[in-house]
Amino acid sequence: MRTLLLILDGLADDRVPALGGRTPLEAAPTPRLNRLAGAGVTGRFAPIPSGMRAGSEVGVPSCLGIAPDPHVGRAALEALGRGLDVPPAATVVRATAVHLTGPFGAPGTVVRAVADGSATHAAVAALGAAPEEGMRLFAAPDGRHLCVLDGPPGPETAPPHDLVGLPLALGGAPVRPGLWADFARRLPGDLALWPWGGSKSGAPRAMSAASPFGAVVTAVDVVRGLARRAGIETPEVSGATGGPDTDLAAKARAALNALDRHAHVAVHVEAADMAAHALDPAAKAAFLARVDRDLIGALAEGPGPGLADVRLIVTGDHGTSSVTGRHLDGPVPFVAGPLAALKAGPGRPWHEAAVAHSPILDGAAWRGLLDGAAVPCRVSRC
Ligand SMILES: [Zn+2]
Repeated sequence: MRTLLLILDGLADDRVPALGGRTPLEAAPTPRLNRLAGAGVTGRFAPIPSGMRAGSEVGVPSCLGIAPDPHVGRAALEALGRGLDVPPAATVVRATAVHLTGPFGAPGTVVRAVADGSATHAAVAALGAAPEEGMRLFAAPDGRHLCVLDGPPGPETAPPHDLVGLPLALGGAPVRPGLWADFARRLPGDLALWPWGGSKSGAPRAMSAASPFGAVVTAVDVVRGLARRAGIETPEVSGATGGPDTDLAAKARAALNALDRHAHVAVHVEAADMAAHALDPAAKAAFLARVDRDLIGALAEGPGPGLADVRLIVTGDHGTSSVTGRHLDGPVPFVAGPLAALKAGPGRPWHEAAVAHSPILDGAAWRGLLDGAAVPCRVSRC
């Protein structure tokens, strides 16, 4: 039996008034996912271990069947995914553009919003063009800027999406505060850069446990870095952007190709998380509907007899609330069933409320599911 895992970033959500009290997954038309649920098993999975911060750097390893490493910062994984050379003694942090209500570092300055990455790229790139001693800034068109600093990491700071509407000071004390205050003075308008996701113990260490996955299809640096660190192939896919415009059918085809070489293949899709951060539940629902139509539809149309042994599992690496824009650390829904079930057959609903009474799989039970063990009878439909 081969396994194809679809990781929908930020899948789970709160009930949203604008969607009639439904979650985006509940509001999205997903007939293929419903057919998979009708033919397979559904339940809940806890990708964020207790005490860890909800994010892809934690949830994606869990989905891939390996324990997240609390000592590895998100930015170090993104640097690895982007192929940046970070010296072992240096620190790498994410530098996210935010809109502030006052000067960086002043008491009472509140984070008004996370800035649009593409709109602020040129301004951030201009900062990086004039590097300071002991600092290199790598601007990215999608807004996922990285900054490499000489010296050890500073204290952990909060992700910017957790600070929207709150005083910046609640985010913690950033490493080299004068540098970020200087950036804010040089950026136009109310823009500033907020450092976060830094390494906690230098460069990523080698993985201690092996994932069963042989390939991960993704266009997002943090997932690419996680996969590379675990020795997992990351095929390049033309048209895969990591954004809402990504070519979902191309990602499906790349995953089916990888199943020729590996018994476990994963596909990671990002944009549902981005829509929730933007407080746009309708866009999140629309994207999930497009995943069902374009990505899962392409899987359903794949070469039939050659895929008879393939099982499809769909879940999320964490939830993201379209109400608050923040990550959620609770359980996420999952569905597992034969790929062949996507084409026809009776369906049943698959969303947060439909699995709300299912027991929750922890990391060990999830690994058992990935390894092909019978799904424990404590999940629904047993
Ligand atoms: Zn997110």
